[in-house]
Amino acid sequence: MTPPSGEPGGVTDAEWAAAVEAVRGLTPGPEGDEIQLICHVNPDGDALGSMLGFALGLRRLGFTRLRATFPGEFEVPTPYQSLPGLDLLVPQHAACTSPDVVLTFDVAAESRLGELAALLAAPRVIMLDHHASNTRFGRINLVDPRAAATSVVVDGLLTRLGVPLDAEIAECLYVALATDTGSFKFDMTTPAVHELAARLIATGISPGDISRRIFDTRPFGAMKLAGEVLGRAALDPTAAGGRGMVWTYATLADLARYGQKPYVLDTLIDPVRGVAEADVAVVVKQSGADEWAVSLRSKGAVDVSEVAVALGGGGHRLAAGFTGHGTPGEVVATVRGLLDEHLL
Ligand code: AMP
Ligand code: MN
Ligand code: MN
Repeated sequence: MTPPSGEPGGVTDAEWAAAVEAVRGLTPGPEGDEIQLICHVNPDGDALGSMLGFALGLRRLGFTRLRATFPGEFEVPTPYQSLPGLDLLVPQHAACTSPDVVLTFDVAAESRLGELAALLAAPRVIMLDHHASNTRFGRINLVDPRAAATSVVVDGLLTRLGVPLDAEIAECLYVALATDTGSFKFDMTTPAVHELAARLIATGISPGDISRRIFDTRPFGAMKLAGEVLGRAALDPTAAGGRGMVWTYATLADLARYGQKPYVLDTLIDPVRGVAEADVAVVVKQSGADEWAVSLRSKGAVDVSEVAVALGGGGHRLAAGFTGHGTPGEVVATVRGLLDEHLL
């Protein structure tokens, strides 16, 4: 099968060939090679969708010794609990101990693998990713910073392996693509993205049902929590060389008060980044006693991926994140101090 036309570059022919050869060199079946798939901590739609979509593709090729996992607490966000291929998902403690091959999905740096980073000692490591900040820690690195989602890279490899898209694989890849393009709204939404979406939808999946489930359904408590967190947002018009910054935060106590899981905070950055008076949006989400997951967004004035990398994280030019320490005010002050250095 020839790759789809208009596919963004970034992965060399030699890298594609190495990945195809590595997968073709594996033995399928119950006595065959053991394959461990891993996506990043606190998995989002791209991480889970890309990983499970590729896992299902491997299953179609006859591989049965397959496990998929992610580091940290084994908690699949409710919107993703109906993804096809979830039967392949195991908690990190049940991951293969000495897999023949490890594949990573949407993982920009080893730090995003937690304790599972030890599995990178496997004889073969194939990384599929699209982060500009990727540290190329794999043995075979399929990293395309121009790809809108890791699922674009997954589609490229499945195509080269001759695995046809079916509705289950397509649903996984569609969730991934829709998540990372903000429902086909972001700059990375190229003709190739829509061509891929068209091929996925042509398998019979329902974009309406999927979008309702993934983006437009939340518990009542999550809505109330969002109201409170958005209500405490602050605007700093002089930040980022006068382009402005808007920020808010949510604590574990906020989550507990409304009986909510941390994933419900993941989409809060969206209403915040819509504030007209600010180029930069920051949401600081408590993840431990002195630990905060920080989401950064820019409308184009600042390279927030550079800011995130400077603070030990990573991401893309206009969407990035890192782990912060201290009070939310201290975390935000640190970010603010770096914005001027990374104006585009
Ligand atoms: P989020 O704000 O969590 O939606 O993440 C935005 C982007 O930044 C995604 O591409 C993430 O993969 C990346 N990102 C978020 N947090 C981190 C982190 N701690 N380290 C590296 N990359 C991150
Ligand atoms: Mn991700
Ligand atoms: Mn992604």
